[in-house]
Amino acid sequence: MLYQKDICIVGAGPGGCATALFLAKAGIPSLLVDKAVFPRDKICGDGLSGWSVAMLNRLNPALKEQLAGSREALPSWGARFVAPNRQVLDVPFVDRHQPDARPPGYVATRLWFDNFLMEQCKAHPLIEVLEGVELEQWERQSADQVILKDKAGQVIVQARLAIFANGAHSRQAKALAGLQPDKKHYVAGIRCYYQGVEGLHADGHIELHFLKEFLPGYFWIFPLPGGRANVGVGMRSDVVAKKGVNLRRAMLQLIAEDPQLRERFRGARPLEEVKGFGLPLGSKKRSISGDCFLLVGDAASLIDPFTGEGIGNALASGELAAQWAQKALEAGRWDAAFLRGYDAAIYNRLWKELRLSKTLQDLLNYPWLFSLVVNKATANETLRQTISCMLTDLDVRQQLKDPRFYFKVLFG
Ligand SMILES: Cc1cc2nc3c(=O)[nH]c(=O)nc-3n(C[C@H](O)[C@H](O)[C@H](O)COP(=O)(O)OP(=O)(O)OC[C@H]3O[C@@H](n4cnc5c(N)ncnc54)[C@H](O)[C@@H]3O)c2cc1C
Repeated sequence: MLYQKDICIVGAGPGGCATALFLAKAGIPSLLVDKAVFPRDKICGDGLSGWSVAMLNRLNPALKEQLAGSREALPSWGARFVAPNRQVLDVPFVDRHQPDARPPGYVATRLWFDNFLMEQCKAHPLIEVLEGVELEQWERQSADQVILKDKAGQVIVQARLAIFANGAHSRQAKALAGLQPDKKHYVAGIRCYYQGVEGLHADGHIELHFLKEFLPGYFWIFPLPGGRANVGVGMRSDVVAKKGVNLRRAMLQLIAEDPQLRERFRGARPLEEVKGFGLPLGSKKRSISGDCFLLVGDAASLIDPFTGEGIGNALASGELAAQWAQKALEAGRWDAAFLRGYDAAIYNRLWKELRLSKTLQDLLNYPWLFSLVVNKATANETLRQTISCMLTDLDVRQQLKDPRFYFKVLFG
């Protein structure tokens, strides 16, 4: 069957679903195609940051409420940082004991979360969903028409605009936009679900362990509902290659041999094999549109270079892609020169934060400085509060680029 729609979205992860839902909100129909049949897993840390929750709220406040009310999502009230010298710093993002306190973030498996978004798409009359179809080939037939074919070369879709939200391994990001993997701006990540890890924080703090062996990346433990935890490591690919690290072996060795972690994992049981996937970082600007196409989410390389979070930016780029699809429809323009406005809109919104996160990633080249800030903050309530604000407020976070901040930490 041939599907004919002005707008076809390839990939129904958070980026693709958000694009379809924002388009639908503006009254614009779309076709949403995924190679998988949902619910499907996606290798991830499963952390839904405050930014992801804010984007969900922007899409539809009812979604935020449903997330908050679901037993599948564990509220996360803060973060626990473990510095390279093993000093532990717990930073609550909000005071949960305030009467109106709402958790800023959650941890929920992607198996559940992505299906939650997909269900919204399936229920919307303006969104036509096609599952189990891998769109591999693309041909531009005229100035305002593209066709998309499946693996067998059969034409499945005819559209004016293709929005590729098909993730870190998007072929079209390479073939059409020329986005080549760049190891300095790419992270290799692995994940394993465990049951029964000891010592998880009572307020669901996510744990980020900045251990020397994984810098400039980290080992994480993110608590999930039901006594499970998402455990993993992310490390920049150029460093993995340079040091010849086998991430899977290194993580299992850490869990088995590290004196502190060994105790916490003594009674824990892995629920699966360790699995890996790539994280294309947004630490450099790229061209993310062209004649009759836009890239969204991981396909556009928009992951935060310090935290490894990509869901919030996938949702945010989905909103902007929907806006630019609407503009293109109204103007009857599908050419690269017009759609380049989408690139500008993306970087206007996200670049300040992405650049700052790159600075923080660079800071991890100085583990002693990181350890020092954590050391001081454990003994200093004001500094702890400043760091808590930094994690939620971009303007306060700018201080981290200012050498005077470190001077104050050292001598203040
Ligand atoms: C180990 C690891 C840990 C991470 N931890 C976090 C975290 O804790 N918090 C966070 O915010 N982010 C995290 N991320 C990043 C996050 O997973 C991604 O940024 C996010 O999934 C991007 O969403 P997306 O919609 O762009 O792509 P995806 O979620 O990858 O979705 C792409 C979709 O496209 C489909 N698809 C692919 N090719 C085709 C095709 N040819 N035709 C049709 N469909 C296709 C796929 O089936 C998939 O459903 C992590 C990533 C990794 C690898």
